This record gives sequence, structure tokens and C-alpha cells, in this order.
Amino acid sequence: MDAIAEIAPALETAAVPVVKTDLDLTVGNHGLIVVDEVHGFCTVGRGPLAPTVPNPQIERMIAETERLAGVIGPKLVFRDSHPPGQAEPPYPEHCVRGTGDDELVDALAFLEERSDALVMPKDCISGVIGGMRPDGSNVVFDWAKRTGIDSIVVVGICTDICVLGVVLPLLSARTRGFLGGVKDIVVHEPACATYDLPLAVARSLDLPDSAAHPQEDFHRMGLLIMQNQGAIITG
Ligand SMILES: [Zn+2]
Repeated sequence: MDAIAEIAPALETAAVPVVKTDLDLTVGNHGLIVVDEVHGFCTVGRGPLAPTVPNPQIERMIAETERLAGVIGPKLVFRDSHPPGQAEPPYPEHCVRGTGDDELVDALAFLEERSDALVMPKDCISGVIGGMRPDGSNVVFDWAKRTGIDSIVVVGICTDICVLGVVLPLLSARTRGFLGGVKDIVVHEPACATYDLPLAVARSLDLPDSAAHPQEDFHRMGLLIMQNQGAIITG
């Protein structure tokens, strides 16, 4: 394969738009799912998956999440939180219980005290899998049914990992009727973010090329995949 043929698929993907509509909260009953806006992913210097310098995309996400949390009633808040020593390949140990890295960022810490917010620690990528109880019932499904919402707005980090990881099973759960009256799964783009690890940085850290994760590209790819499977993208 010559060099042009190798990059051609990437160029074609670049032409596919993320189609964003306005988030209209005046119609219907919305619930908000906040994914993993914890220190270990968002606060400079807080562990191997946290930014090393202030990151505008992450700062925008936190500010927009704080705003939405003030105007959307029912909230389900995931915190990535692992017992010490639990492996989650390919990622290094992160958001370990007892370190504080698994706690909500300062701007969202108030959600721990809110009666309209259910905070759920999870120790895997997908909040739907993380929400499974031993008896087979599910925290996420029960929250959606109990609150009587008809639309779920999903925000958080990372767009292409844990946000994608909850949105895709939510789309299937909606189809199967596990979410009560929920019709729409919405991803609010300005309140989503992902991490930045350019290829050159990955190589400088002696990581494999497969570890590279340029922020804007992966943010966009996550949105495209969710959009393509029926999520509504707003922003
Ligand atoms: Zn994790």
C-alpha cells in the first residue's frame, strides 16, 4: 500500500460532519448522566491519566457540565473508582479508591450532596456494565425508569471511551424498553472531552504507537460513532 492509499480513508472520514443541533431543555423531561469528571481524569497532575498542563477542552467540559447540572433535574453521576491493584488494561492504574483521584472535580463536588443526583462509583469503562447489581438489576435502567424522563443527556470524559461506553448500550437498552419512556439519547458535545496523547509524545514516552490518542481526532471519532448509531449530538 502506498502512502496515499494508506491515508485516503482518514481523509474521507475527515469530511463526515458531526451534525450538532441546539439542546432544547424547554420541551420534554431531561435527565443528565455525568461520566467520570473526577480528578484522576481532569485535574492537572492527579495521576497517569490526568492532564499534565491545563487543558481547554476539559475546562470547557467542566464549566458546561456545571451549567447543565443547574438546569436539568434528575442526575446520575458516574465516578471512575478502582480498588487498589485492579487491572484495567490497556490503562495504567488510575482513579484508585483512597487517593482522592476518584472524587468529583471541585466544581462538581456539590453533586455529592444533591438530593436530585445519584452518584455511582464504577470500576469499568461502561456505566451500564458498572451499574449491574448481583441480582441482575441495573442502577442506570432503574434510574431512567424511576425519574420518568423521556430524554437522557450524556456528558463527560472521555468522549470516545467512557461516554461512548455508556451511550452505545443505552441506545440498545432504549430499543429493548429497559429505559422506561426514554426516547432520545443526547450527547452534548461542549460538555464532553477526551485526553491528549499525540503520537510524537507517545513515542517519546516509549509507548507503542497504538497508545497515541490525539485529542481532537479521538473526540471527533467518538462523536461520529455515537451519531452514526442514533445518538443526537448537541452543542
Ligand atoms: Zn477506570
